[in-house]
Amino acid sequence: MQTIDTGAIQALDAAHYLHPFTDHAALAAAGARVMVRGDGIWLWDSENRRILDAMSGLWCVNIGYGRQRMSDAVYQQMQTLPFYNSFFNTTNVPAVTLAAKLVALAPPHFNRVFFTGSGSEANDTIVRMVRRYWQLMAQPERHIIISRVNAYHGSTIAGVSLGGMAGMHAQGGPLLPGIVHIDQPSYLEHGQGMTEDEFGVVAAGWLEERIKTIGPHNVAAFIAEPVQGAGGVIIPPTSYWAEIGRICDKYGILLVADEVICGFGRLGAWFGSTRMGIRPDLIAFAKGVTSGYIPLGGVLVGDRVGDVLTTKGGDFNHGFTYSGHPVACAAALENIRIIEDEGLVTRVAEDTGPYLNAAFTALAAHPLVGYADSFGFVAGLNLVQSKGASVHAHTLFDGDLGVGMLCRTHMFDAGVIMRAVGERMIIAPPLVMTRADIDEMIRRITLALDATLAELQTKGLMAE
Ligand SMILES: *Cc1c(COP(=O)(O)O)cnc(C)c1O
Repeated sequence: MQTIDTGAIQALDAAHYLHPFTDHAALAAAGARVMVRGDGIWLWDSENRRILDAMSGLWCVNIGYGRQRMSDAVYQQMQTLPFYNSFFNTTNVPAVTLAAKLVALAPPHFNRVFFTGSGSEANDTIVRMVRRYWQLMAQPERHIIISRVNAYHGSTIAGVSLGGMAGMHAQGGPLLPGIVHIDQPSYLEHGQGMTEDEFGVVAAGWLEERIKTIGPHNVAAFIAEPVQGAGGVIIPPTSYWAEIGRICDKYGILLVADEVICGFGRLGAWFGSTRMGIRPDLIAFAKGVTSGYIPLGGVLVGDRVGDVLTTKGGDFNHGFTYSGHPVACAAALENIRIIEDEGLVTRVAEDTGPYLNAAFTALAAHPLVGYADSFGFVAGLNLVQSKGASVHAHTLFDGDLGVGMLCRTHMFDAGVIMRAVGERMIIAPPLVMTRADIDEMIRRITLALDATLAELQTKGLMAE
Protein backbone atom coordinates (compact mmCIF):
# COMPACT_ATOMS: atom_id res chain seq x y z
CA MET A 1 0.00 0.00 0.00
CA GLN A 2 1.20 3.49 -0.84
CA THR A 3 2.00 5.68 2.16
CA ILE A 4 0.58 9.16 2.11
CA ASP A 5 1.73 12.17 4.11
CA THR A 6 -1.66 13.15 5.49
CA GLY A 7 -0.45 16.46 6.92
CA ALA A 8 1.12 17.54 3.62
CA ILE A 9 -2.04 16.70 1.65
CA GLN A 10 -4.17 18.54 4.21
CA ALA A 11 -1.95 21.62 3.96
CA LEU A 12 -2.17 21.70 0.16
CA ASP A 13 -5.89 21.04 0.40
CA ALA A 14 -6.40 23.98 2.77
CA ALA A 15 -4.24 26.26 0.61
CA HIS A 16 -5.60 25.49 -2.87
CA TYR A 17 -8.66 23.29 -3.07
CA LEU A 18 -12.11 24.88 -2.83
CA HIS A 19 -14.55 22.13 -1.80
CA PRO A 20 -18.28 21.98 -2.55
CA PHE A 21 -20.65 23.13 0.24
CA THR A 22 -17.82 23.75 2.70
CA ASP A 23 -16.93 26.29 5.39
CA HIS A 24 -13.26 26.65 4.50
CA ALA A 25 -12.18 28.22 7.77
CA ALA A 26 -13.63 25.27 9.66
CA LEU A 27 -12.17 22.79 7.19
CA ALA A 28 -8.69 24.29 7.43
CA ALA A 29 -8.85 24.14 11.23
CA ALA A 30 -9.97 20.50 11.28
CA GLY A 31 -8.00 19.22 8.29
CA ALA A 32 -9.69 17.26 5.50
CA ARG A 33 -10.07 13.51 5.76
CA VAL A 34 -8.04 12.04 2.91
CA MET A 35 -9.72 9.10 1.19
CA VAL A 36 -7.32 6.89 -0.70
CA ARG A 37 -8.91 3.59 -1.64
CA GLY A 38 -12.21 1.78 -1.96
CA ASP A 39 -13.23 -1.84 -2.28
CA GLY A 40 -16.82 -3.08 -2.19
CA ILE A 41 -18.63 -1.25 0.63
CA TRP A 42 -15.37 -0.20 2.31
CA LEU A 43 -13.20 2.91 2.15
CA TRP A 44 -9.71 3.45 3.51
CA ASP A 45 -8.36 6.86 4.51
CA SER A 46 -4.74 8.01 4.52
CA GLU A 47 -4.36 6.84 8.15
CA ASN A 48 -5.37 3.37 6.94
CA ARG A 49 -8.68 3.46 8.81
CA ARG A 50 -11.28 1.13 7.25
CA ILE A 51 -14.73 2.71 7.05
CA LEU A 52 -18.06 1.23 5.97
CA ASP A 53 -19.55 3.61 3.41
CA ALA A 54 -23.26 3.64 4.19
CA MET A 55 -23.72 6.68 1.87
CA SER A 56 -22.41 5.08 -1.36
CA GLY A 57 -20.04 8.04 -1.76
CA LEU A 58 -22.71 10.64 -2.47
CA TRP A 59 -25.72 8.38 -3.16
CA CYS A 60 -24.03 7.02 -6.25
CA VAL A 61 -21.65 4.07 -5.87
CA ASN A 62 -24.47 1.54 -6.27
CA ILE A 63 -22.20 -1.35 -7.36
CA GLY A 64 -19.56 -0.65 -4.71
CA TYR A 65 -15.94 0.40 -5.17
CA GLY A 66 -13.06 -1.23 -7.02
CA ARG A 67 -14.92 -3.10 -9.75
CA GLN A 68 -12.40 -4.44 -12.27
CA ARG A 69 -15.06 -4.69 -14.98
CA MET A 70 -15.60 -0.93 -14.81
CA SER A 71 -11.95 -0.03 -15.23
CA ASP A 72 -11.63 -2.52 -18.09
CA ALA A 73 -14.66 -1.09 -19.93
CA VAL A 74 -13.46 2.49 -19.52
CA TYR A 75 -9.88 1.62 -20.52
CA GLN A 76 -11.05 -0.12 -23.66
CA GLN A 77 -13.27 2.80 -24.70
CA MET A 78 -10.47 5.31 -24.00
CA GLN A 79 -8.19 3.39 -26.32
CA THR A 80 -10.84 3.13 -29.05
CA LEU A 81 -12.41 6.59 -29.01
CA PRO A 82 -11.82 8.73 -25.91
CA PHE A 83 -14.04 11.57 -27.11
CA TYR A 84 -16.18 12.77 -29.88
CA ASN A 85 -19.14 15.15 -29.77
CA SER A 86 -22.71 14.53 -30.89
CA PHE A 87 -23.20 17.90 -32.59
CA PHE A 88 -23.23 18.33 -36.41
CA ASN A 89 -25.13 15.12 -37.24
CA THR A 90 -22.55 12.90 -35.58
CA THR A 91 -23.00 10.11 -33.08
CA ASN A 92 -20.99 7.38 -31.32
CA VAL A 93 -21.63 3.73 -30.52
CA PRO A 94 -21.64 3.82 -26.67
CA ALA A 95 -24.05 6.80 -26.59
CA VAL A 96 -26.51 5.14 -28.97
CA THR A 97 -26.25 1.79 -27.21
CA LEU A 98 -26.80 3.39 -23.81
CA ALA A 99 -29.77 5.45 -25.04
CA ALA A 100 -31.42 2.28 -26.36
CA LYS A 101 -30.65 0.43 -23.13
CA LEU A 102 -32.10 3.17 -20.91
CA VAL A 103 -35.24 3.28 -23.02
CA ALA A 104 -35.58 -0.50 -22.62
CA LEU A 105 -35.30 -0.16 -18.82
CA ALA A 106 -37.64 2.84 -18.52
CA PRO A 107 -41.46 2.72 -18.55
CA PRO A 108 -42.86 2.06 -22.08
CA HIS A 109 -43.76 5.68 -22.93
CA PHE A 110 -40.08 6.68 -22.76
CA ASN A 111 -38.29 6.41 -26.11
CA ARG A 112 -35.63 9.13 -26.08
CA VAL A 113 -32.65 10.28 -23.99
CA PHE A 114 -30.72 13.55 -23.76
CA PHE A 115 -27.27 13.19 -22.15
CA THR A 116 -25.57 15.69 -19.84
CA GLY A 117 -22.51 15.64 -17.60
CA SER A 118 -24.32 15.79 -14.25
CA GLY A 119 -27.64 15.85 -12.44
CA SER A 120 -27.59 19.66 -12.25
CA GLU A 121 -27.18 19.88 -16.01
CA ALA A 122 -30.01 17.38 -16.42
CA ASN A 123 -32.32 19.66 -14.44
CA ASP A 124 -31.07 22.75 -16.32
CA THR A 125 -31.95 20.88 -19.48
CA ILE A 126 -35.41 20.10 -18.10
CA VAL A 127 -36.14 23.77 -17.39
CA ARG A 128 -35.28 24.71 -20.96
CA MET A 129 -36.98 21.64 -22.41
CA VAL A 130 -40.35 22.05 -20.70
CA ARG A 131 -40.47 25.74 -21.59
CA ARG A 132 -39.46 24.93 -25.17
CA TYR A 133 -42.22 22.29 -25.26
CA TRP A 134 -44.89 24.81 -24.28
CA GLN A 135 -43.55 27.30 -26.84
CA LEU A 136 -43.90 24.64 -29.51
CA MET A 137 -47.41 23.89 -28.21
CA ALA A 138 -48.23 27.60 -28.76
CA GLN A 139 -48.77 28.14 -25.01
CA PRO A 140 -45.60 30.08 -24.11
CA GLU A 141 -47.34 31.64 -21.08
CA ARG A 142 -47.08 28.20 -19.47
CA HIS A 143 -43.59 28.78 -18.09
CA ILE A 144 -43.90 28.47 -14.29
CA ILE A 145 -42.41 25.37 -12.71
CA ILE A 146 -43.66 24.23 -9.32
CA SER A 147 -41.16 22.50 -7.04
CA ARG A 148 -40.99 21.78 -3.31
CA VAL A 149 -39.44 23.29 -0.21
CA ASN A 150 -36.30 21.40 0.83
CA ALA A 151 -35.98 19.70 -2.56
CA TYR A 152 -32.51 19.23 -4.02
CA HIS A 153 -32.15 19.55 -7.79
CA GLY A 154 -28.50 20.56 -8.12
CA SER A 155 -26.25 23.55 -7.78
CA THR A 156 -26.27 25.37 -11.12
CA ILE A 157 -28.44 28.49 -11.18
CA ALA A 158 -31.39 26.48 -12.54
CA GLY A 159 -30.72 23.64 -10.12
CA VAL A 160 -30.56 25.87 -7.06
CA SER A 161 -33.68 27.78 -8.19
CA LEU A 162 -35.62 24.55 -8.71
CA GLY A 163 -34.38 23.22 -5.39
CA GLY A 164 -36.00 24.41 -2.20
CA MET A 165 -33.00 24.76 0.11
CA ALA A 166 -33.21 28.02 2.08
CA GLY A 167 -29.44 28.11 2.69
CA MET A 168 -28.79 27.93 -1.05
CA HIS A 169 -31.47 30.46 -2.00
CA ALA A 170 -29.88 32.94 0.41
CA GLN A 171 -26.63 33.06 -1.58
CA GLY A 172 -25.68 34.27 -5.04
CA GLY A 173 -29.10 35.40 -6.20
CA PRO A 174 -31.22 36.60 -7.84
CA LEU A 175 -32.53 33.17 -8.69
CA LEU A 176 -34.13 32.10 -11.93
CA PRO A 177 -37.62 33.61 -12.26
CA GLY A 178 -40.75 31.52 -12.81
CA ILE A 179 -40.11 28.86 -10.17
CA VAL A 180 -42.29 28.49 -7.05
CA HIS A 181 -42.33 26.00 -4.17
CA ILE A 182 -44.94 24.10 -2.19
CA ASP A 183 -44.25 22.36 1.13
CA GLN A 184 -42.66 18.93 1.25
CA PRO A 185 -44.74 15.88 2.16
CA SER A 186 -43.03 15.42 5.51
CA TYR A 187 -45.35 13.57 7.87
CA LEU A 188 -43.13 14.39 10.84
CA GLU A 189 -43.17 18.10 10.09
CA HIS A 190 -46.75 18.63 8.90
CA GLY A 191 -48.78 15.48 9.61
CA GLN A 192 -49.89 15.99 13.20
CA GLY A 193 -53.44 14.73 13.87
CA MET A 194 -53.65 12.77 10.62
CA THR A 195 -52.88 9.22 9.50
CA GLU A 196 -50.03 9.03 7.00
CA ASP A 197 -52.41 8.37 4.12
CA GLU A 198 -54.71 11.23 5.08
CA PHE A 199 -51.65 13.46 5.22
CA GLY A 200 -50.45 12.29 1.76
CA VAL A 201 -53.70 13.52 0.17
CA VAL A 202 -53.51 16.82 2.07
CA ALA A 203 -49.89 17.39 1.00
CA ALA A 204 -50.70 16.65 -2.65
CA GLY A 205 -53.59 19.11 -2.34
CA TRP A 206 -51.04 21.89 -1.81
CA LEU A 207 -50.09 21.42 -5.45
CA GLU A 208 -53.66 21.91 -6.64
CA GLU A 209 -54.08 25.00 -4.44
CA ARG A 210 -50.93 26.53 -5.91
CA ILE A 211 -51.94 25.71 -9.48
CA LYS A 212 -55.26 27.48 -8.91
CA THR A 213 -53.51 30.53 -7.39
CA ILE A 214 -51.11 30.86 -10.31
CA GLY A 215 -53.68 29.95 -12.94
CA PRO A 216 -53.32 26.55 -14.66
CA HIS A 217 -52.66 28.23 -18.04
CA ASN A 218 -49.39 29.63 -16.57
CA VAL A 219 -48.02 26.38 -15.18
CA ALA A 220 -45.52 24.34 -17.20
CA ALA A 221 -44.51 21.51 -14.88
CA PHE A 222 -44.23 20.06 -11.41
CA ILE A 223 -40.83 18.61 -10.46
CA ALA A 224 -40.05 16.38 -7.49
CA GLU A 225 -37.83 13.58 -6.26
CA PRO A 226 -39.78 10.32 -5.72
CA VAL A 227 -38.10 10.22 -2.28
CA GLN A 228 -36.43 13.49 -1.28
CA GLY A 229 -32.75 12.68 -0.78
CA ALA A 230 -30.49 15.51 0.35
CA GLY A 231 -33.45 17.11 2.14
CA GLY A 232 -33.24 14.22 4.62
CA VAL A 233 -34.71 11.08 2.98
CA ILE A 234 -38.31 12.29 3.12
CA ILE A 235 -40.39 9.24 2.18
CA PRO A 236 -43.90 10.36 1.19
CA PRO A 237 -47.02 8.48 2.32
CA THR A 238 -48.24 5.98 -0.30
CA SER A 239 -51.30 8.13 -1.04
CA TYR A 240 -49.20 11.13 -2.09
CA TRP A 241 -47.99 10.27 -5.57
CA ALA A 242 -51.28 8.91 -6.89
CA GLU A 243 -52.93 12.18 -5.94
CA ILE A 244 -50.10 14.26 -7.46
CA GLY A 245 -50.52 12.32 -10.72
CA ARG A 246 -54.25 12.95 -10.75
CA ILE A 247 -53.72 16.70 -10.23
CA CYS A 248 -51.08 17.03 -12.97
CA ASP A 249 -53.37 15.17 -15.40
CA LYS A 250 -56.34 17.31 -14.48
CA TYR A 251 -54.51 20.54 -15.36
CA GLY A 252 -52.40 19.17 -18.24
CA ILE A 253 -49.19 19.93 -16.37
CA LEU A 254 -45.96 18.06 -17.15
CA LEU A 255 -44.77 15.82 -14.33
CA VAL A 256 -41.00 15.62 -13.88
CA ALA A 257 -39.37 13.00 -11.66
CA ASP A 258 -35.86 13.85 -10.49
CA GLU A 259 -34.49 10.32 -10.19
CA VAL A 260 -30.84 11.33 -9.75
CA ILE A 261 -30.85 9.40 -6.46
CA CYS A 262 -33.89 7.14 -6.86
CA GLY A 263 -32.91 5.59 -10.20
CA PHE A 264 -30.80 2.53 -10.95
CA GLY A 265 -32.05 0.24 -8.23
CA ARG A 266 -31.91 2.53 -5.21
CA LEU A 267 -35.65 2.13 -4.48
CA GLY A 268 -35.82 -1.49 -5.65
CA ALA A 269 -36.74 -0.73 -9.28
CA TRP A 270 -34.76 0.63 -12.23
CA PHE A 271 -36.65 3.86 -11.68
CA GLY A 272 -38.16 4.89 -8.35
CA SER A 273 -41.20 6.21 -10.22
CA THR A 274 -42.24 2.65 -11.00
CA ARG A 275 -42.11 1.69 -7.33
CA MET A 276 -43.96 4.84 -6.25
CA GLY A 277 -46.69 4.66 -8.90
CA ILE A 278 -45.57 7.87 -10.62
CA ARG A 279 -46.14 8.32 -14.37
CA PRO A 280 -43.65 11.08 -15.22
CA ASP A 281 -43.27 12.88 -18.55
CA LEU A 282 -39.56 13.50 -17.97
CA ILE A 283 -36.99 11.77 -15.76
CA ALA A 284 -33.69 13.33 -14.65
CA PHE A 285 -30.92 10.82 -13.91
CA ALA A 286 -27.20 10.89 -12.97
CA LYS A 287 -25.31 9.41 -9.97
CA GLY A 288 -26.20 5.68 -10.08
CA VAL A 289 -26.22 5.54 -13.90
CA THR A 290 -22.43 5.07 -13.74
CA SER A 291 -22.23 4.33 -10.01
CA GLY A 292 -20.16 7.53 -9.95
CA TYR A 293 -17.14 5.95 -11.65
CA ILE A 294 -17.30 8.60 -14.42
CA PRO A 295 -19.58 11.68 -14.40
CA LEU A 296 -22.76 11.31 -16.47
CA GLY A 297 -26.33 12.56 -16.29
CA GLY A 298 -29.28 12.97 -18.57
CA VAL A 299 -32.98 13.29 -19.20
CA LEU A 300 -35.28 10.49 -20.24
CA VAL A 301 -37.86 12.15 -22.44
CA GLY A 302 -41.37 10.68 -22.57
CA ASP A 303 -43.30 10.61 -25.84
CA ARG A 304 -45.57 13.53 -24.95
CA VAL A 305 -42.57 15.90 -25.03
CA GLY A 306 -40.28 13.84 -27.26
CA ASP A 307 -42.75 13.60 -30.15
CA VAL A 308 -43.15 17.38 -30.19
CA LEU A 309 -39.44 18.23 -29.82
CA THR A 310 -38.46 15.94 -32.68
CA THR A 311 -41.15 16.97 -35.16
CA LYS A 312 -41.63 20.70 -34.62
CA GLY A 313 -39.49 23.80 -34.54
CA GLY A 314 -36.19 22.58 -36.01
CA ASP A 315 -33.16 22.87 -33.71
CA PHE A 316 -33.51 22.79 -29.93
CA ASN A 317 -30.55 25.09 -29.27
CA HIS A 318 -29.22 23.28 -26.24
CA GLY A 319 -26.45 20.81 -25.42
CA PHE A 320 -23.05 20.22 -23.91
CA THR A 321 -19.57 19.39 -25.18
CA TYR A 322 -19.81 16.18 -23.20
CA SER A 323 -23.39 15.20 -24.15
CA GLY A 324 -23.09 11.50 -24.99
CA HIS A 325 -19.43 11.27 -23.94
CA PRO A 326 -18.32 7.84 -25.21
CA VAL A 327 -16.25 6.91 -22.14
CA ALA A 328 -18.99 7.95 -19.70
CA CYS A 329 -21.56 6.03 -21.73
CA ALA A 330 -19.31 2.94 -21.82
CA ALA A 331 -19.02 3.18 -18.02
CA ALA A 332 -22.82 3.40 -17.71
CA LEU A 333 -23.33 0.38 -19.96
CA GLU A 334 -20.94 -1.74 -17.91
CA ASN A 335 -22.47 -0.50 -14.65
CA ILE A 336 -25.94 -1.51 -15.86
CA ARG A 337 -24.62 -4.93 -16.96
CA ILE A 338 -23.18 -5.46 -13.47
CA ILE A 339 -26.48 -4.48 -11.83
CA GLU A 340 -28.27 -6.93 -14.16
CA ASP A 341 -25.74 -9.78 -13.79
CA GLU A 342 -25.89 -9.56 -10.01
CA GLY A 343 -29.67 -9.09 -9.88
CA LEU A 344 -29.23 -6.06 -7.61
CA VAL A 345 -32.56 -4.42 -8.38
CA THR A 346 -34.57 -7.51 -7.47
CA ARG A 347 -32.33 -8.17 -4.48
CA VAL A 348 -33.04 -4.71 -3.04
CA ALA A 349 -36.77 -5.04 -3.77
CA GLU A 350 -37.26 -8.53 -2.39
CA ASP A 351 -34.42 -9.43 -0.06
CA THR A 352 -31.94 -6.88 1.25
CA GLY A 353 -34.36 -3.90 1.12
CA PRO A 354 -36.95 -5.56 3.41
CA TYR A 355 -34.09 -6.90 5.57
CA LEU A 356 -32.65 -3.39 5.92
CA ASN A 357 -36.12 -2.04 6.72
CA ALA A 358 -36.59 -4.50 9.60
CA ALA A 359 -33.13 -3.88 11.05
CA PHE A 360 -33.18 -0.12 10.58
CA THR A 361 -36.68 0.61 11.89
CA ALA A 362 -35.81 -1.45 14.98
CA LEU A 363 -33.32 1.33 15.83
CA ALA A 364 -36.36 3.37 16.92
CA ALA A 365 -36.15 1.40 20.20
CA HIS A 366 -32.91 3.26 21.00
CA PRO A 367 -33.49 6.02 23.62
CA LEU A 368 -32.06 8.63 21.24
CA VAL A 369 -34.15 7.67 18.18
CA GLY A 370 -37.69 9.03 17.81
CA TYR A 371 -38.49 7.76 14.35
CA ALA A 372 -36.80 5.53 11.76
CA ASP A 373 -37.97 4.61 8.28
CA SER A 374 -36.59 3.27 5.02
CA PHE A 375 -37.61 2.59 1.43
CA GLY A 376 -35.49 0.32 -0.76
CA PHE A 377 -31.91 1.32 0.03
CA VAL A 378 -32.46 4.77 1.56
CA ALA A 379 -33.18 5.22 5.24
CA GLY A 380 -33.21 7.86 7.96
CA LEU A 381 -33.66 8.20 11.70
CA ASN A 382 -34.46 11.21 13.87
CA LEU A 383 -32.51 11.98 17.03
CA VAL A 384 -34.77 13.27 19.82
CA GLN A 385 -34.16 14.56 23.31
CA SER A 386 -37.04 12.59 24.81
CA LYS A 387 -39.88 10.51 23.48
CA GLY A 388 -43.58 11.30 23.68
CA ALA A 389 -46.60 9.10 23.08
CA SER A 390 -46.53 9.63 19.28
CA VAL A 391 -43.97 10.74 16.69
CA HIS A 392 -45.42 14.24 16.87
CA ALA A 393 -45.07 14.40 20.65
CA HIS A 394 -41.29 13.90 20.95
CA THR A 395 -39.09 16.64 22.40
CA LEU A 396 -36.64 17.74 19.70
CA PHE A 397 -33.11 19.03 20.24
CA ASP A 398 -32.36 22.71 19.81
CA GLY A 399 -30.78 22.83 16.34
CA ASP A 400 -27.98 25.09 17.63
CA LEU A 401 -26.63 22.23 19.77
CA GLY A 402 -25.40 20.51 16.62
CA VAL A 403 -26.46 17.06 17.82
CA GLY A 404 -26.62 15.69 14.27
CA MET A 405 -23.02 16.71 13.59
CA LEU A 406 -21.92 15.27 16.92
CA CYS A 407 -23.58 11.97 16.02
CA ARG A 408 -21.93 12.02 12.59
CA THR A 409 -18.52 12.27 14.26
CA HIS A 410 -19.35 9.29 16.49
CA MET A 411 -20.44 7.38 13.38
CA PHE A 412 -17.07 8.00 11.80
CA ASP A 413 -15.30 6.93 14.99
CA ALA A 414 -17.37 3.72 14.88
CA GLY A 415 -16.17 3.20 11.29
CA VAL A 416 -19.38 3.98 9.40
CA ILE A 417 -20.29 6.94 7.22
CA MET A 418 -23.74 8.37 7.85
CA ARG A 419 -24.90 11.83 6.82
CA ALA A 420 -26.56 14.35 9.13
CA VAL A 421 -29.40 16.60 7.91
CA GLY A 422 -30.14 18.59 11.03
CA GLU A 423 -30.96 15.89 13.59
CA ARG A 424 -31.97 13.35 10.96
CA MET A 425 -29.24 10.76 10.26
CA ILE A 426 -29.47 9.22 6.81
CA ILE A 427 -27.98 6.40 4.76
CA ALA A 428 -28.05 5.23 1.15
CA PRO A 429 -25.88 2.10 1.17
CA PRO A 430 -24.29 0.42 -1.86
CA LEU A 431 -26.78 -1.99 -3.45
CA VAL A 432 -24.22 -4.81 -3.29
CA MET A 433 -24.62 -5.03 0.49
CA THR A 434 -25.42 -8.50 1.79
CA ARG A 435 -27.52 -9.28 4.87
CA ALA A 436 -24.27 -9.79 6.81
CA ASP A 437 -23.06 -6.35 5.66
CA ILE A 438 -26.33 -4.83 6.84
CA ASP A 439 -25.87 -6.49 10.26
CA GLU A 440 -22.36 -5.03 10.47
CA MET A 441 -23.62 -1.57 9.47
CA ILE A 442 -26.42 -1.65 12.08
CA ARG A 443 -23.92 -2.82 14.71
CA ARG A 444 -21.66 0.15 14.01
CA ILE A 445 -24.59 2.60 13.89
CA THR A 446 -25.78 1.31 17.29
CA LEU A 447 -22.31 1.76 18.79
CA ALA A 448 -22.25 5.33 17.55
CA LEU A 449 -25.77 6.05 18.86
CA ASP A 450 -24.68 4.72 22.27
CA ALA A 451 -21.58 6.92 22.22
CA THR A 452 -23.63 9.95 21.19
CA LEU A 453 -26.14 9.30 23.98
CA ALA A 454 -23.33 8.93 26.53
CA GLU A 455 -21.78 12.23 25.46
CA LEU A 456 -25.14 14.04 25.56
CA GLN A 457 -25.84 12.64 29.03
CA THR A 458 -22.41 13.72 30.27
CA LYS A 459 -23.11 17.21 28.96
CA GLY A 460 -26.53 17.20 30.64
CA LEU A 461 -28.33 17.55 27.30
CA MET A 462 -30.72 14.60 27.66
CA ALA A 463 -34.03 15.04 29.42
CA GLU A 464 -34.04 13.19 32.77
C1 LIG B 1 -27.18 15.07 -6.59
C2 LIG B 1 -28.50 15.49 -7.10
C3 LIG B 1 -28.63 16.39 -8.17
C4 LIG B 1 -27.45 17.10 -8.76
O1 LIG B 1 -26.57 16.24 -9.41
P1 LIG B 1 -25.05 16.72 -9.66
O2 LIG B 1 -24.49 15.60 -10.47
O3 LIG B 1 -24.42 16.91 -8.33
O4 LIG B 1 -25.13 17.97 -10.44
C5 LIG B 1 -29.89 16.65 -8.66
N1 LIG B 1 -30.98 16.07 -8.13
C6 LIG B 1 -30.90 15.22 -7.10
C7 LIG B 1 -32.14 14.58 -6.59
C8 LIG B 1 -29.66 14.92 -6.54
O5 LIG B 1 -29.58 14.11 -5.49
